[in-house]
Order: sequence, then C-alpha cells, then structure tokens
Amino acid sequence: MDPRLTSLLKLQEVLSVQRKLEMQYEEIPKRQNEIHIFLKNLEDEAGAAEEKFKQHEIEQKNVELELQQGQEDRVKKEAQLMTIKNNKEYQATLAEIESLDRRNSRNEERLIELIDAVDKQRTILNEKKNELEKRQSDFQSELAELEKTEKGLNKKVEAARQETDRIKEHVDPVLFQRFVRVFNGKQGHAMATANGGHCGACSIRLTPRLMQLAKRGQDIVVCEGCQRFLYWDHSLEEDQLGAL
Ligand SMILES: [Zn+2]
Repeated sequence: MDPRLTSLLKLQEVLSVQRKLEMQYEEIPKRQNEIHIFLKNLEDEAGAAEEKFKQHEIEQKNVELELQQGQEDRVKKEAQLMTIKNNKEYQATLAEIESLDRRNSRNEERLIELIDAVDKQRTILNEKKNELEKRQSDFQSELAELEKTEKGLNKKVEAARQETDRIKEHVDPVLFQRFVRVFNGKQGHAMATANGGHCGACSIRLTPRLMQLAKRGQDIVVCEGCQRFLYWDHSLEEDQLGAL
C-alpha cells in the first residue's frame, strides 16, 4: 500500500481520538457555566422570597402598631365619654368611637391575613433556602469532579495532539490540509472503503478505473461522490468476493 495512504489511515485514527477528547474537554466549561447560571437563579429566587417575607413582616408590624394605637384611642375616648355633659359633644365622641371601631375591625382582619401571608412566605423562603443549600453542596462536588476531569483530559488532549503531529510529519502538507478539510466536513470520517466497487461511506458506484486504483493502493484516490479518500480493505475481501 502507498505509504501516503497508510499515513492517512493512521491519521484518521489519531485525529478521531484527538477530536473526541477535544469535544469532551470543551463540554467542561459549558457544564461549569450551566451550573453557575443554575445556582445564580436559585440564589435570586431565594433572595426574592426573603425580600417578600420581610415586606410582609414589616406590614404586619405596622398594622399591629396601628391596631394597638386604635385600641388605646378607643379606651381614651370611652373614658372621655363618662366626663362629657354636653349632648352634642357626647354624640360627636360616640361617632368617633364608632369610626375607631370600624378601623380597628378592618385592621384586625388585615392582621389575620398578614399573619397567614407571613407564615406562607416563611415556608416558601425555607424551601428555597433548603433547595439552594442542597444544590450548592451537590454542585460543589460536581465542580470539583469537573476540575479533576479537566486536568486529566488536558493531558490526554495534549498527548493526542502530539500523536497527530507525529503522523503529520509523514504526510505532505497539501495532502494533510485536504485530509483535514474532508475530515472536518464529513463529521470526522475522511476515509472510505472501495471494496465491492462502491464507496463505503456514500455508497456511490465507483468507476472501474477508480476501483482498480483503490485496490492497487498505489495512488491517492478520492470518491467522486463524497470526496473521501478511498482505500481497499483487504480484511473485507473474502466477504466481498460475492459482490465483485
Ligand atoms: Zn463516497
């Protein structure tokens, strides 16, 4: 077999290993980013829940104070009522007491609603905090694991690149460029068998001349259909005899 063809087959092998490792390596920052975005969202949600909880609490305190003030005012007005001799003034104070009663009653209802809202919001806040804590701990382990994987993969990618470079030295630079172009354009498969007179990748029927050239293995032959480099796989020959 043409040594150039042997080199291309070897190149197909090492470049596949290299690309696979590179892809795994590229996945790591993507996953890290995903984790950070996910955590940030959970933190934001917990922050918003805390904010809402605090607002309800403040409102509850305010209504409590207002109600307390209203009740004290009512006691004062009631005491005042005992000392009033003038009927007009008596009626006016009575009206004030009624108005205070209405306000106090509204505030009591509002207070019940707010106590309920604070309780509910406290539950939501605790759920959010618990989920955040749990996720943080899970993600910390995953991030530590990713860091380890990244270091290991980095070495493997480096080694694979060196192996590709080693093979590249035996390949003509122009041929190498062509090979890489096909390799990248064809999802990492630059070689195809010519056994049986068909391209093993795109199945196009090869001209008898192309097939003979591929079988002889003394030239660089390219499939007219998919541009992949053709080679004759002699290990398949016996199986293919029937098809020839
Ligand atoms: Zn083809």
